[in-house]
Amino acid sequence: MNETVEAIMVLRRVFGYPAFRGDQEAVIRHVLEDGDALVLMPTGGGKSLCFQIPALLRPGMAVVISPLIALMRDQVAALRQLGVAAAALHSNLSPGESMEVLRQVEEGTLNLLYVSPERLLMPHTLEWLKGRPLALFAIDEAHCVSQWGHDFRAEYLGLGVLHDHFPGVPRLALTATADLPTRAEIIKRLGLEGARHFISSFDRPNIRYRIIIKERPLEQFLQFWRAGHTKDTGIVYRLSRKSVEEAAAWLERHGVRALPYHAGMDPEIRTRNQDRFLREEGIVIVATIAFGMGIDKPDVRFVAHLDLPKSIEAYYQETGRAGRDGLPADAFLTYGMEDVVQLRKFIESSEAGEEFKRVEHHKLDALVGMCESVACRRSVLLHHLGDRHEGQCGNCDTCLEPVETWDGTEAARKALSAIHRTGQRFGVNHLTAVLRGDVTDRVLTLQHDKLSVFGIGRELNAKQWRSLFRQLVVTGLANVDLSHGGLHLDERCRPVLRGEQEVRFRVDPNESPPRKKERKPEIPEEGDAMWELLKATRMDLAKEQQVPPYVIFHDTTLREMLEQRPTTLRELERIFGVGRRKLERYGEIFLKVLRTGEPYRP
Ligand code: ADP
Ligand code: ZN
Repeated sequence: MNETVEAIMVLRRVFGYPAFRGDQEAVIRHVLEDGDALVLMPTGGGKSLCFQIPALLRPGMAVVISPLIALMRDQVAALRQLGVAAAALHSNLSPGESMEVLRQVEEGTLNLLYVSPERLLMPHTLEWLKGRPLALFAIDEAHCVSQWGHDFRAEYLGLGVLHDHFPGVPRLALTATADLPTRAEIIKRLGLEGARHFISSFDRPNIRYRIIIKERPLEQFLQFWRAGHTKDTGIVYRLSRKSVEEAAAWLERHGVRALPYHAGMDPEIRTRNQDRFLREEGIVIVATIAFGMGIDKPDVRFVAHLDLPKSIEAYYQETGRAGRDGLPADAFLTYGMEDVVQLRKFIESSEAGEEFKRVEHHKLDALVGMCESVACRRSVLLHHLGDRHEGQCGNCDTCLEPVETWDGTEAARKALSAIHRTGQRFGVNHLTAVLRGDVTDRVLTLQHDKLSVFGIGRELNAKQWRSLFRQLVVTGLANVDLSHGGLHLDERCRPVLRGEQEVRFRVDPNESPPRKKERKPEIPEEGDAMWELLKATRMDLAKEQQVPPYVIFHDTTLREMLEQRPTTLRELERIFGVGRRKLERYGEIFLKVLRTGEPYRP
């Protein structure tokens, strides 16, 4: 049979999906023809199928290298639900469990073996695998080989040997990190010079980006959460462990089911929090960026950054954890000058070399540029990632509520003069007082009311001046002294002071505007009794089997059931995400719930 037809049949019969997405089909065909591949797809793009389907169609066992145990565990559980023989080999198994996996490999009954890189690279594992028919190697999260990246894993560097040990076995490297240097590093380190590249568009059209000016971030977040996410699963990112703890406690007091997660916690509690996030509904995890990689949960409805991430790449990867199921999701960021100053300080005080620091500063500047941009966020993001977008996406804050700008040339000159006249050592609050002619104690003590700049800026209020100073700093016209917060002029401000360069500023919107009513047209109304019933049924089944609910069925599948109300197994089989095995296991149960409107009783 034609290979493409076979692949489609597996997609429908095993996974219950009607059609391939994007490059999936091309990648699969290429691997079926023994080719190596580098696959770049955004998070949620569907990378797993690119190796799972060839694993089922090619003779021998597929070896999937994955950096995280949680990730392996989830994928193996999901595959088993589909009736696929899969297992994982890593350091957290008991000797007994390990033996059982080894036995399955020896018997040749496994379609997919997930393995950690350190385990795979042990000499005896390599030798032991050499004698067996292998379908392919899939190197997941391949950007972990990149020493510049934020997920670097030294063990990944060793994977370059696979080619020598297993010539002729196709290798796929898969990642959601798109930038060119990372791509080049993957190719070099993994010896993939001959691999074909499959590079998808990185756009995630279902994610709505919103960036607001940071004032009281927790309250701002609460407002965002109350406006449409009270029943949703989400992730809140904070920079430090301490702020994670504080935020989780504060949110909990305000009615959010929030749980902390960071590297400094008792591992047992941390694992428990992660499990609750995966298995329950409506949990908000508050975490440092240590949380997230390898979290495959498809129904994360928002990712909120209450502190500035490190770079656009990091931001894109972190926000990409929202909405893998393709349903509407939000990326929410509060952004302020203090964050920029603090991150600059981090970079400066790091032990790294000058070259590295320069790169980090560039990355931060690019991110700040995105935050301050008045253009479509999506177009700025994708452009930075080497992708293309026409703008006017209609699903980001700047598209939905276009940002006004104003000619701030005159105001900028006043602000820069105030910095200059006061001796280039005062912070934003004092400078604002001087400009506005406020007679504060400090102004009097320093006799700054005698200066020519005193009171020359009454036309703007304090908040507007703060906004303006922020934009001066982030655009590099003024700099902040990292130790005491005083502002001084940058070389670059000269043409502005001389009146040769116009400056435009954005008008900061007052608050995050209330969410429009038509926000989530596709997700059933809360309180729809049948919807709740379907979800409860899924939860009961998940608990019975100790797997996360989405491993039973995704929201998308339940939603289709709700809309189409299938009455027979044949009708149910046509629903998105219902493959052969799940039909056998759960078909009657869901049909009965749909027919009777009565809850499922295990
Ligand atoms: P990635 O690893 O690229 O982040 P996954 O492989 O986890 O993405 O896939 C994301 C989600 O999309 C999964 O829930 C998966 O089942 C689903 N998916 C993948 N391919 C298809 C397809 N062709 N049709 C429908 N759903 C798909
Ligand atoms: Zn837009």
